[in-house]
Amino acid sequence: MERIKVDKDKCIGCGACTAIASDVFSFNDEGYAQTDPNNNIIDNMEEEVKNDCMDALEGCPVDAIYKEEVEEEKEEEN
Ligand code: SF4
Repeated sequence: MERIKVDKDKCIGCGACTAIASDVFSFNDEGYAQTDPNNNIIDNMEEEVKNDCMDALEGCPVDAIYKEEVEEEKEEEN
């Protein structure tokens, strides 16, 4: 199972991902993108949201969006 995440050290806050996939990406208080921990498991997303997420991942100008492998129990914790 995979989760979609943002590397905050790379993010430049351009807003592309939040525009493309607003269900999953939002800005934190510092103006960088973040993903909703309750809605960032790729397999749990509706098809349309998943596609938007992949578009955001591919469209990030600084490659700050990545997939992270998660274990089942970790998913339940978050
Ligand atoms: S598209 Fe990339 S650089 Fe732009 S806000 Fe999203 S994660 Fe940050």
